Amino acid sequence: MSEAQEEALRAEARAWLEATFPAWRESVGNPARYNSEQRRAWHRVQAQGGWGAPSWPVEYGGKGFGPVEYAVWAEEKARIGANIPFNVTGFGMAGPTIIAHATELQKKRYLPPLLGGDEIWCQLFSEPGAGSDLANVTTRAQRDGDSWIVTGQKVWSSSAHEADFGILLARYDFDKPKHEGLIYFIVDMRAPGIEVRPLRQISGESEFNEVFMTDVRIPDENRIGEPGDGWRVAMTTLMFERMSIGSATGGYTFPFERLVALARAHGRPGALDRQALAGVYTRYKILDLLNARVLSKLRKGEIPTAEGSILKIALADLISASAALGVRLLGGEGLLLKDGSPTRAFLEAPAFHIGGGTDEVQKNVVAE
Ligand SMILES: Cc1cc2nc3c(=O)[nH]c(=O)nc-3n(C[C@H](O)[C@H](O)[C@H](O)COP(=O)(O)OP(=O)(O)OC[C@H]3O[C@@H](n4cnc5c(N)ncnc54)[C@H](O)[C@@H]3O)c2cc1C
Repeated sequence: MSEAQEEALRAEARAWLEATFPAWRESVGNPARYNSEQRRAWHRVQAQGGWGAPSWPVEYGGKGFGPVEYAVWAEEKARIGANIPFNVTGFGMAGPTIIAHATELQKKRYLPPLLGGDEIWCQLFSEPGAGSDLANVTTRAQRDGDSWIVTGQKVWSSSAHEADFGILLARYDFDKPKHEGLIYFIVDMRAPGIEVRPLRQISGESEFNEVFMTDVRIPDENRIGEPGDGWRVAMTTLMFERMSIGSATGGYTFPFERLVALARAHGRPGALDRQALAGVYTRYKILDLLNARVLSKLRKGEIPTAEGSILKIALADLISASAALGVRLLGGEGLLLKDGSPTRAFLEAPAFHIGGGTDEVQKNVVAE
């Protein structure tokens, strides 16, 4: 994509967002924090405008955006505050995996309701004994006629309590080398034998869950790829997961302008606060440059490897640093958990150092 095309796309995205988002936001009362129905509603506005899943191919309702075009769209959404996460596993992981590996029949069944905001997805990969080393999964899938009988336990399953479908990694052959005995399914979260137990987070909310599966019958037509392809298909999911976290940069950090406003709220900020503000500002700039570095590789048709991991570490660091400074600037009020407050961002920050590959694992990738 040439620079002129990029600028034309930016202008188009900005014009559409400016014509649509502020009015929508006002119509839902300018909330400090969007509830799940508001998130779904904003998604539907985007889907109706053709912006529901711009990186999907045109034939599945997307705009066929490559990574550079998608980054322009994500930047414009972040600029206006319209990057409101909705069905992140569905759009960031399940959808792209289905597009890459599923049969035409599966694509026809699952992609349109996902795009329309009608069906929510969760990811059933991690287990108590399989996280960073995901190939250790021991959830068992046994063939039984036209279906598979699945038994095992998953954990940290975001949104499983509200999900209609899950993408599931299980083991069908315990004798093969661990990466070769895996199988990948789409599972109906309302199937008999599935029990979802919410986990309480430090913020008091329950956004992720334990999922227990006891003799869950999954039709063979819900398998993605051949038995034994599970690892290969899961790698596609994880690659898209990293990309969706990386491109969400603006969505989770505590905005710098609000930190400055907090610092000024109590008169002229002291030297330590000014230093800390400069530290957060510097991190924002570093993140911009790291983003630009990833994009410039993509523009040249090269695939970023270590750059993506560095970006994720820097993002988690910025999320933590900006939220911690916000809490400090609030003083005693920082102990109160209010919508839109840095305290909430502070309590949510540790998750970014773990989910989508821990800091340590990302550092391994960089080192290698
Ligand atoms: C907010 C959030 C949402 C999540 N959502 C989902 C979801 O929807 N579905 C899902 O399946 N999973 C989900 N996860 C799980 C996530 O993928 C795992 O937590 C992550 O992969 C780490 O695995 P683990 O928790 O088992 O930790 P472990 O892998 O047991 O790691 C424990 C510690 O050891 C370190 N460590 C491990 N291996 C190495 C190594 N080789 N070198 C150096 N250090 C190492 C880690 O960095 C960590 O500090 C979510 C996690 C979070 C935080």
